[in-house]
Amino acid sequence: MARAARPTFIRAGQLIDGVAVEPRTNVVLRIEDGKIASVEPWRDALSVEAAVHDYSEHTVLPGLVDAHCHLTLLGAGLTYEQEIGVDDEFMAVAAVHNAGVMLRSGVTTLRDNGARHGIMFAVREAMNHGLLLGPRMLIAGRPITPTGGHFHWCGGAADGVEEIRRQIRRLVQEGADHIKIMASGGGTAGTNPGLPSYDVAELRSAVDAAHHYGRLTTAHCRATRSIANAVEARLDCIEHAEFNEPADLIQHVAEGPTHRARWDGDVARRLADSGMFASLTLPGSGYVAYRELLERQSLIGSDALSADQQGALDRGGAVMDSRADNVRRFLDLGMLPRLVVSSDAGPFDIEFGKLYQGLEVAVAGGMSPMQALQACTRVAAEACGVRDHVGTLEAGKQGDVLVVRSNPLDDVRNLRTVVAVFKAGRIVHQTAERTTI
Ligand SMILES: [Zn+2]
Repeated sequence: MARAARPTFIRAGQLIDGVAVEPRTNVVLRIEDGKIASVEPWRDALSVEAAVHDYSEHTVLPGLVDAHCHLTLLGAGLTYEQEIGVDDEFMAVAAVHNAGVMLRSGVTTLRDNGARHGIMFAVREAMNHGLLLGPRMLIAGRPITPTGGHFHWCGGAADGVEEIRRQIRRLVQEGADHIKIMASGGGTAGTNPGLPSYDVAELRSAVDAAHHYGRLTTAHCRATRSIANAVEARLDCIEHAEFNEPADLIQHVAEGPTHRARWDGDVARRLADSGMFASLTLPGSGYVAYRELLERQSLIGSDALSADQQGALDRGGAVMDSRADNVRRFLDLGMLPRLVVSSDAGPFDIEFGKLYQGLEVAVAGGMSPMQALQACTRVAAEACGVRDHVGTLEAGKQGDVLVVRSNPLDDVRNLRTVVAVFKAGRIVHQTAERTTI
């Protein structure tokens, strides 16, 4: 009979457990067989008895849960049309690389919301065999989309309820953990992010087929009417939650975001009343350029930018303010317990491992730093159907832990100061500041 492994102890100067409103200080996580056995006050006697990872100077929090990313894309400023000119083999290698980036940033669970063919099933299989190190992966495989619809190049086109049902059966057979459906157009050329792409009956058939197999559903919703349809069809979650109209001209430009977020109070109220989760992907494309301009200006002063750059910065600032305003309105509608902050890393210039960017916008919209951290840990885990295993640091949960040097409750961007990452109680990444004793 196998002997029980020795427990591991992770000492926390400050512990954010994903549940409590206030952090705890000077506590220790006892990890047995990869899971948290207890969370207790620290006692000095432990350092004599057992091996302790000592983070008494640091903040310990649950490994992050990124509910929306696309590991097979590069996050390097390319359009979808530029991204898809490579073979599946290349995309698989990119996914392996990006999984590593995500893990090192503190993401220990991710949901891949759409990739070509069966690439992500193979990547997950390789990880489960220990061939690569990455976060726990929940995989949608090919998103369901109409012929020529957003992400049609993944191979998941389905028109009408029969084809949708068939596609879902196939995906489940191949190993899909959840079903992603494109309820509106998006950044794929030829599609319109202001227009719905499925009617309520089609979305409803997807929900029925997915739930039949015990799979959750999430819908890409960038159009007001797509949110209304998804609410009526009772999806489990919607992504983006944007309120675009058909005539809106939305461009993805490298110079920075240009399209101010709209709001539709009536549809938003229906969403809030529905009990569905909303996974907000707040920075969006163009954020990197905007942030660079902002930093240059704050470092060098107001004359650091050309007139063009100043214009791009002002436009980007207005867009970010409008997105933060929408967070505030969702909070006013009582959505906090079901608001998830996700990255959407992969498309355009949305980089991997920078979940804190979305948290920053959420805080600007009125979430406290603690609420924002819970939105990408506990609430995200709940939205992904894995709250029983991950998302909080409580007895019985997986030992998925992120350690950071600077206090993220002072500034959520301090999530960048990663010291160590644990998955199932095993240290999978640490920076030079090693404090194990
Ligand atoms: Zn996406």
